[in-house]
Amino acid sequence: MSRKKVLVLGGNFAGLTAALAVRHELHGDVDVRVVSASDKFLFNPSLIWPPFGKRTPADVTFPVAPTFESHGVDFVHAEATALDLENRKVTTTGGIYDYDYLVIATGYRNNFGAAYEYLFNVSHQLRKAGLKKQVKLTYASPEPFLGHFGIGGLPHGETLLSMFLKKERITPVLDTAIDHVDEGRLVLAGGRNVDFSYAMIVPPFIGQEVIRQASDIADEKGYVKVRDTYQTLRYDEVYAVGIAVAVGVPWQTATPVGVPKTGFPAEQMAHVAARNIAAQIRGQLPADRKAFGDIPAVCVMDAGNNGVIILADKMLPPRKHGLLIPGPQAHAMKLGFEKYSSGRPATGTSTCRDWEARDD
Ligand SMILES: Cc1cc2nc3c(=O)[nH]c(=O)nc-3n(C[C@H](O)[C@H](O)[C@H](O)COP(=O)(O)OP(=O)(O)OC[C@H]3O[C@@H](n4cnc5c(N)ncnc54)[C@H](O)[C@@H]3O)c2cc1C
Repeated sequence: MSRKKVLVLGGNFAGLTAALAVRHELHGDVDVRVVSASDKFLFNPSLIWPPFGKRTPADVTFPVAPTFESHGVDFVHAEATALDLENRKVTTTGGIYDYDYLVIATGYRNNFGAAYEYLFNVSHQLRKAGLKKQVKLTYASPEPFLGHFGIGGLPHGETLLSMFLKKERITPVLDTAIDHVDEGRLVLAGGRNVDFSYAMIVPPFIGQEVIRQASDIADEKGYVKVRDTYQTLRYDEVYAVGIAVAVGVPWQTATPVGVPKTGFPAEQMAHVAARNIAAQIRGQLPADRKAFGDIPAVCVMDAGNNGVIILADKMLPPRKHGLLIPGPQAHAMKLGFEKYSSGRPATGTSTCRDWEARDD
């Protein structure tokens, strides 16, 4: 019997994890190819620091091909431009590839950001530069209350975040949307204005165009609709993991609030998909299931030299446990996460590159 072919689109957190994990599950007895639009791994969690000169682009990226090659995964630096799911073929800028199993891990289009982390890092850097008293800092958010985080909030979260903002003398404007931006002026829905000398705008995420065009698997935003096995609703052999997955939330807010699809759930989804693909290749049914909302929330909100560790038994309510632990150890943990992830990606078995985590 010929070896099965697994094709992974995207080579960052979710794609890299899925590719390495499926090889691992099948002890290498499978052909895995990754096609990614970027030939670098981007460590997005550190993107909050380049604006302050604390990291350079080279610090937050590394070439991804050596990692794949050392794990026997074929890497193609190309962009997927069309999916032919009926015929199991993907057209890319580097050629047409067929597959037995497809994993879509194409993340989001370049509309990203991490609002709270960036906000508190701005405040921290202004203080370090001796400018804090001269600058008025405003935080405008669609959240219905502080500390909603897009996951419906956690116990004491609103109180804690309110304290943080008060301590940092940051003015919140909540439950609002941007109508438009004029020169030096943010015009919010309802006509309220916030004048600025400097603004950081965090627009909502959106899926990749190539996925949006595959309308039999994607929603209108370009995210892939999946089952709890991370198989698409329509095709048993097509999976999606990471930010590329469409996630429903059990609430409605007056102004839409995004769901934080962080690295931890991205990797968890990739492992579930890898185990299910391995099961299918062995002739079994894909039995591993973990809905996005049931994945534990494990997250650090960095605040420059401080922060909050966010832990909950589930990403989305109803939950049994939820805990916010404020303090400088959160910042240390984020630096540790950066160092750990760069040294031991995805399967925790390999070295990507030497990455100096600096305490600054
Ligand atoms: C500023 C910021 C801070 C963050 N902080 C944290 C944090 O502290 N902790 C945490 O856990 N998470 C954090 N996150 C979230 C984390 O980065 C995401 O969960 C993670 O990047 C998701 O991985 P992914 O592989 O699903 O998507 P992505 O990282 O977006 O990767 C998608 C990959 O697909 C490729 N691709 C795109 N289109 C195509 C195409 N057409 N064909 C082929 N390849 C394609 C891209 O080049 C990329 O390699 C942060 C994100 C941001 C932006």
